[in-house]
Amino acid sequence: MNFFKRCKNGILHIEEISLNTIAKLIGTPCYVYSKNAIINQFIIYQQALKNYPHIICYAIKTNSNLAILNMLSKLGSGFDIVSGGELERVLMAGCDPSKIVFSGVAKRADEIIQALNVNIKCFNVESCSELQRINNIAKSIGKTAKISIRVNPNIDPKTHPYISTGLKDNKFGIPIKQAPLIYAYAKTLNFIKIIGINCHIGSQITNFSPILNTIDHLIELISILKNKQNIKIQHINLGGGLGVDYFNLYPPPIKLYIKKILNKLNNKETVNIPLIIEPGRSIAADAGILLTRIEYIKINEKKKFAIIDAGMNDIIRPSLYNAWQNIDQVDIRIHNDKGFIRKKAYYDIVGPICESSDFVGKSRLLSITEGDYLAIRSAGAYGFVMASNYNTRIRPSEIMVEENEIYLIRKKELLKKLLYYEQF
Ligand SMILES: *Cc1c(COP(=O)(O)O)cnc(C)c1O
Repeated sequence: MNFFKRCKNGILHIEEISLNTIAKLIGTPCYVYSKNAIINQFIIYQQALKNYPHIICYAIKTNSNLAILNMLSKLGSGFDIVSGGELERVLMAGCDPSKIVFSGVAKRADEIIQALNVNIKCFNVESCSELQRINNIAKSIGKTAKISIRVNPNIDPKTHPYISTGLKDNKFGIPIKQAPLIYAYAKTLNFIKIIGINCHIGSQITNFSPILNTIDHLIELISILKNKQNIKIQHINLGGGLGVDYFNLYPPPIKLYIKKILNKLNNKETVNIPLIIEPGRSIAADAGILLTRIEYIKINEKKKFAIIDAGMNDIIRPSLYNAWQNIDQVDIRIHNDKGFIRKKAYYDIVGPICESSDFVGKSRLLSITEGDYLAIRSAGAYGFVMASNYNTRIRPSEIMVEENEIYLIRKKELLKKLLYYEQF
């Protein structure tokens, strides 16, 4: 089987090398990404925005492998980071600090210093206390911090509750009604420079209305700031959130999504104010798969299980959000080794972890046998980055495919190194 058979929200891209070859060469489980698929997605965003001042700040928490950051940086991408560790990463990958925006509700003092020292583009500030902290730190090291206020518009992005962020009961941002007050306060702080306004209402959004409603609220706020408080907003950051088609979800195509956003911004209060977006999932998800091998088939009274060599420590989305990942057989063989026709049956695809929530798919119709390889699709985003060492399992390697070449972008972890941190 070839690498990609579909990538609905982008350009179909078929890599030449077979997954079977990769599995045999590298071993399983391993994450496999298509360089061209990632680049294609990024370029669709770039093309859609080419006539409007903008920065695309890829949200690196989605997939932060250095090779991917380096690749996107070369295409002109900026980056949305959420920790000092992520700042180290983007700098190491050769990214331009003037295109880095820093999000997150709990920025520590040392992280703020780190970011001020390299002159990042903007802190996306999420509370009044954070604003004060940034001002104090900037003062103490003789810097000025450029900021935007992350507002919470109380809009339901109609996604999974764990990944909605723009509702009243979420911890993110500042309620939009309080925003004029916070901006007024920010204006009085000597080491703060207000440059933008920001929001991110959630992830895996599959229709237009939440983001368009959000923009209406932002326009209203920008107008209040300009006309009543003499604060001029120099960029609008709409965050990320566009969904991908895990299964029968049909999110808007990137091009149309951006077009509708730009149409909304074409308004007397906002026209030509530079736009920042922070896409993550829509760039990386469909560009990656998790390749795994069936260790055992187990049949009990009620169910058939395919027990694979990847578990919830390698890919947690199904266990965490009950998320759907398509699962394909790498080799579709009609006959088994004895020459009999293989029968299709419904299997629960489960991992080796000692938890009943350790599954990647339930009731999947497959004609499989022990030793077969499976491709868990749309695993390029929130896949490897959420992997853990639970059950003292080493995290899988990561492979990049480019046309008919493959290269290792993360080595398989060493068990020795895991144990190195512990002592008695
Ligand atoms: C996670 C996150 C993103 C990216 O979201 P996607 O749904 O992956 O596009 C962007 N901005 C912020 C602040 C985030 O937390």
